[in-house]
Parts: sequence; C-alpha cells; structure tokens
Amino acid sequence: MTTATLTELQTERARLKALDARRELDEATAQTRRADDLLRAALAVRALLAAVLRTVPARLAQAIEGEQDETRVHYLLSDAVHTLLDDIGRRAEAASSALPEFGARFRRGARPRSLQTVSQWADKQRWLIAGTNAPGKWRTDLTPYLRDIQDDLSEHSPVRTVVFIKSSGVGGTEAMFNWLGYCMHHLGNRDMLVVVPSLELRDRSFNPRLSKMIGENPPLADLVSRASRSSANRADILEYGANARIIKAGANSADSLRSDHLPYVICDEVDAYKWDVGGEGDPMTLIENRQRTFSRAKTFLVSTPTNADESRIDQAYQRSDRRRYHVPCPHCGDFHHLKFANLKYRTELAESPTPGAAEAKVVVDAWYVCESCGAEILEGEKPTLLARGRWIAERPRVKLVRGYHINSLYAPIGLGLGWRQIAQKWVDVQGDTAALKAFVNTYLGEVWREEGDGADAASVLARVEPYALETLRAARKVRRLTAGVDVQKDRLECSLAAWGDGEEGWLLDHQIFPGDTATPGPWDDLDEYLRDARVAMVCVDAGYNTSMAMAFCAGKRWALPTKGVTGMGRPLIEDERRRKMRLRVRRKKGQPIEPLGVDQAKSLIYARLKLPTPGPGYLHFPADPAFDDEYFAQLAAEQLVKRIRGSRVFSEWKQIRPRNEALDCLILALAACRLAGPLATGGRPDAEAPAKRATNWADDVLPTTAEDVANALDSGTADTAAQVFAKMMAARAAKSRVRR
Ligand SMILES: [Zn+2]
Repeated sequence: MTTATLTELQTERARLKALDARRELDEATAQTRRADDLLRAALAVRALLAAVLRTVPARLAQAIEGEQDETRVHYLLSDAVHTLLDDIGRRAEAASSALPEFGARFRRGARPRSLQTVSQWADKQRWLIAGTNAPGKWRTDLTPYLRDIQDDLSEHSPVRTVVFIKSSGVGGTEAMFNWLGYCMHHLGNRDMLVVVPSLELRDRSFNPRLSKMIGENPPLADLVSRASRSSANRADILEYGANARIIKAGANSADSLRSDHLPYVICDEVDAYKWDVGGEGDPMTLIENRQRTFSRAKTFLVSTPTNADESRIDQAYQRSDRRRYHVPCPHCGDFHHLKFANLKYRTELAESPTPGAAEAKVVVDAWYVCESCGAEILEGEKPTLLARGRWIAERPRVKLVRGYHINSLYAPIGLGLGWRQIAQKWVDVQGDTAALKAFVNTYLGEVWREEGDGADAASVLARVEPYALETLRAARKVRRLTAGVDVQKDRLECSLAAWGDGEEGWLLDHQIFPGDTATPGPWDDLDEYLRDARVAMVCVDAGYNTSMAMAFCAGKRWALPTKGVTGMGRPLIEDERRRKMRLRVRRKKGQPIEPLGVDQAKSLIYARLKLPTPGPGYLHFPADPAFDDEYFAQLAAEQLVKRIRGSRVFSEWKQIRPRNEALDCLILALAACRLAGPLATGGRPDAEAPAKRATNWADDVLPTTAEDVANALDSGTADTAAQVFAKMMAARAAKSRVRR
C-alpha cells in the first residue's frame, strides 16, 4: 500500500517535472519566435528604407520643381523632408506588423518635430473672445494676406526681418499676438522682447491686451499659471519657463531696452519711436544690440506710417523686398494691388442738420475699377479676391528682409471700414490738411509726403477753368487781391491772385515785365500794372537786386520787400508776436525785409494742388494764355528730395527745372495775402489792407548826394548806368539806416 503510494507519488513528481520542462521549452520556443519576428520585422524595415531612400532625390526634386524663389524652395524642402520622415514611420509600422510594438516605436522615432507655422498654430489654438469684430476661433482664411507675414515668423522660416506697413482695420496687431502665442506655446523656449513707443503705452494698452489674449487661450493661461507667482506677470516681464520670457519695453526708456541678449523682437508702432532715447541714441540701435549674438534672430516691425521723411517703417520697407498683395480682377483675371485712386464713389447732397450751414456730401455708393479692363468690382466680391490673392515682391532678390504693405481697402467685410465708409472719410477730410494726412496714414497706410514729387504739371494743367474776376466778385467769393513779384536780371514776373474764405485762391494773371531790373523801366511798368489792379498787398522778392526791390516798396503801404529763408521748420510768415518784436527793433534801422519760410510754403502749395475739389485751400487756374504749359512746368519745378545726415534722413526742396518763377510768384502772392492780415469772413470783399507800418526811410528816392554817387562808383566795378543807379540806391539805403 505504502509502496504503491510512494510509486504513485514518484510518478506524479516526474509528471510535474515534465510539465515544467515542457513549459520552459514552450517559453524558450516563444522567445525564439520573437527574435525571429524581430529579425523579420527589421529586415522588412531595412528593405523598406532602402527602397524609400532610392526615391528621396526624386521626391525632393519634385517638391521644388519649377520654383524659383529661394525662400520658397527652403520652405518646400523642409516640408518635403518632414512628409518623407512621417511617411517612413507609417510604412515601417505597417511593414513590421509581425511585431506591433516594434513598429509603433519605430514610427515614433522617425516622426520629426512638428513643423507648425504661426498660421497653423493660430488656426488651431487661438481664440478671440471679447472686444473684437470677429469673436470665435481665429481663422487665417479670413485675412489671407496675413498668412505669409505670420509664416515668415515661424521658427523654420529663413526670413530674419518682417516689415509690415499697415492701415487700420486689417488685423495687423493680431498677427503680432499670434506670433507671441506661437512662441509661448509652440516653441516655449525663446526669449522675446516687445517694444512699444512708451512705457505709459505699455502699461495702459499693451499689457492689458496681452493679459486678455492669455486669458482667452487656455494653453497659454496654463503656461502662465504654472510659472512662479512672483515673476509670472509683472509689468515689465512675463516669465513662464527657462529661456521663456517676454520682456516688455518702451522705446522712450533706455533702461527698459537694456536686457540680456535675446533672439526675437517685436517693434510695435515704430513710427512713434523717438530718434534719441535719454541721450543714448537711437532706440533701434539699442534693440539691435540685444539680438547680436543670435544667428537666427527674428524681428517683426509693424506700424501705421507717418511723415515720409521720418517714417522708420517706410525706411525699413524700402530696404525690404517690398511686397504688395495682388488680387485677380473677377472680370479679366489680371492681378493688381488695390489702389485708393481706383476706388470710385457717388455722392449726394444731404441737408445739413444745422440750418444755414453748407450741405453735406454723403457717399451713397462706392466701387473699385479694374485698371486693366475698366470693369467695376463690387465690395461683395472681396472675400473671393482676398482668397485668390498673393503677395508679389518688387525686389524678389532681397531674401531675408520681407516688407508687406497693405491698406484699408483690403479689410475683410465686417472687420474694418467698408469701401463706402472709406470714400466718405475721404470726402470729409477735404480741405483740412491735418485730417487729410491722418486719412492717408491711417486708411491708406501710406506715408504722408509733402507733395513735391507729386505736383506734376500735366495734372495741374488739366484743371484750368474759365472764370473772370467780375464773376467771382459778383458771387461774393473774393475777399482780397494780392500779387507776388519775382525779380530776375532781365525781367520782373508777377502773379495776381484773388483769395476767398479759407484761402481758396484764384490765379488771375501772370505778367512778365521785361527789361534790365537794375534800371527803373520794368519797375515803372510793374507799378502801373499793380495800381490798375488795385491789389491789397504785394510781396516783392528782394533777394536779387535788393536795392531796387527796396526802392520799389518804399513809401507804398501795399508793398513789402521779402526774402526767402530755408528750413522746413519755418512758417511762411512769422507769427504775429515775433514779427512785431522784430519790427520794433528794425524800424529804427530802415525798411525791414520780411522773411518768408519758403520750404513750408512749397509744401503747402503742393499739398493744395492735390486737393481734388474746390473749397478752402483749393487753387484755381484760369483758362488764359498767360497760364500756358511753361507756367505749369515752372509751378512743378521743385521736388522734395531726401538727404542723409548721420543716421537721420532729412528732406530738402530741389529745383528740377531751370526756371521756377511761377512757383515763387504764387508763394509771394500767398504770403502777401497772409501779411495783409486775417481774411475777413462775410465782411467786405476786397477789404482795405490793414495799415502797414510806416516806411519813411526814403520818401524821396532821388536826388542823392554827390557823395553817395562817389561812394557807389568807388566801391566796385560799376560800369553800366544801371549798376551805377543800383549802387546809388544801395548807398542811399545804407546811409539812411545809419542816420536813423
Ligand atoms: Zn479687369
């Protein structure tokens, strides 16, 4: 019994042992099969890789086929390699199905870092909630022109500087915030400097907007809330990780610009930056110094432009590849960028709310005219235009600095002003230079040029109109008649002009009095002419043949000798207080010469020649033989040119034609109008000129003393009667100055 039991036990143990051995064998077999699978999977992947690698050159070549633009090629290659790696991972996973976890791991290893662009990030992550015209998820498709701008700011783009001249309503600021969000959330390890024009603006406007964006976008809010409390969100810095700071500076504070080196910079509203910050020089130089150690630094300059000569954004744009957004005409398919000049509109007169006031012009319709086919494009077609548009560079060879220029006409429907509203703004600002400038900057996104380059003779000539002084008088439009006289060696030139409310001007005549201006002949003719015309005031340029000009004005309450002084800062005529002070001093010394700020006068006249409709400031030219081609060519004889002194750009008037008398005469006639005192409104037309200060230095021009003649002959090489006469006059003047 016990023996049998023992045998049974031994058998059972042997059986269990055999089971163990069997299990071990099974396990070993299983192991062997996995190694085998591994080998098979690896071989499959190797074969796949070998096959794919053979196709790489062809795939890359295909990706960039026909593309000329170097920057685009860079992009396309990045994308192609990215797709290729992704593809290899997926196919390797499929090929190694025998060993699923091996395939998945291979795929994860092969996948490249996400090549998100700023636009892709914004489309995925950005929400706009309060205070916007288009709340909800950000869609770059709504403002397709922002796509290239944003994508140049993406990490893998080779572009280094993006210059964006923007008008209002086109979403330029949002592009800036999209880049900020992208850097914070997608990159997460780039320090960034944001510069706004002043610390006050930073605290009052930028910081609240940044907080709002962060608050509205949960991934950003998480980042910031994870950061340490103390440094997370100060006025001057937002720190949300290692090498992950947003430093917020004001261009008016050198201290705020002095930070560590950092790769990324946003310069917002650069045209409002001062040229010198606390005696430490140009803030832009301080900013550039911060980026110097980074080879892949990026700068985003964005601004509404200001004056042509002082506009940093315009200067940066001129150095860039100069892009404009071209859209196809729905009728002929030609691509053009939208220009304000092609926006047409129809107005109706509306009753003014205040009785008696002028009727207001109301724009009732506006449309765009294609410059190729002349067809009308309606604003409703804008979404299609924008979607099909593309940026075209004027200087495609410039690679790393891209400039983008856009105006309000592109603003998506519902975001900015519509075309009709823009046309209304345009109608409203006519006649008001300051408002016109604001319109040009804000809505056209264009720099304001003191129009010199634009005064083209043909366009001024095109606006001659028939009128006569009598009819103007009958319409009670004329308040004053003045003249301006330019003195040349062999002739006097004189423009006669009538002035109405708001200095609306009607040129009446342009006369030439030939003759040696060192002799009395032409001066006598001028005298007779001006007396006949009964001018209220005449300004005579005394810069040439000074003594004769002085002599002419002597004793005439209605004539003033003048001298042009240069400098953009000088007003056409001095302000009343300064003028009185000067006259008090000079009266004792004889006939004073009125200084005229001719540079400002030229800007003023050229700006007025641009006014499209009659009204205050408008200049009329008569259909009269005196106003011929030559007259208008002389009127457009000067151009504003840029000159560089040090690091600053200045502008100066440059004569581009040999003769400019018509322009000088007009300036003198306008100066005469101003020197005669304020234009009476609603008062007596052609009111008497206010009393000129007594000019009694030479009531009697001749005779002069023998001594004067001797001195005159002595002092130089006077050899003609005319020169003797002039010298006598000069000597007489000098003497009388001494006497008083
Ligand atoms: Zn067309």
